[in-house]
Amino acid sequence: MRIFSIIKDNPKVCPYCGVQINKEPKRKFKCPSCRKEIYIQKINNRIKLITIDDNEIIKNERQKEIDKINSANNQISFFNAYNSGLCTGKQWLTSGKQDVRESHKYYENLGWKDMDYEYAPGLKYPGDPNCTNEDELRGCRCTIVFNVD
Ligand SMILES: [Zn+2]
Ligand SMILES: [Zn+2]
Repeated sequence: MRIFSIIKDNPKVCPYCGVQINKEPKRKFKCPSCRKEIYIQKINNRIKLITIDDNEIIKNERQKEIDKINSANNQISFFNAYNSGLCTGKQWLTSGKQDVRESHKYYENLGWKDMDYEYAPGLKYPGDPNCTNEDELRGCRCTIVFNVD
């Protein structure tokens, strides 16, 4: 059990000022010495104390991964619908959550559009990687549905 005790006894220090932290934090807290906000990163069951900048980087990376999943789902359904030749139209659907951006609410309100319609340059469906405007893609949870006659 030597490894376990090394992990357990590994002292936690403030990532800004290096002062030793003696508690087991569950979420962000202020350093008792320098008063800066310390964030925590969970790696398996271990906790690492990190700066606000590192926390932002980790958050952005996670966001990108989630964006990729949503984009891939829409890409598959769009290609399937498009290649079937059976679909006469598509409709943008927002997630209906509060933080939906205004432009995507507008796309939803457009109703049925031709399959080749671009909501913005390169954007044929939510998360379309052909769109180079990051503002259209980041954090988007919209989906797309198709009309079959
Ligand atoms: Zn500190
Ligand atoms: Zn969206």
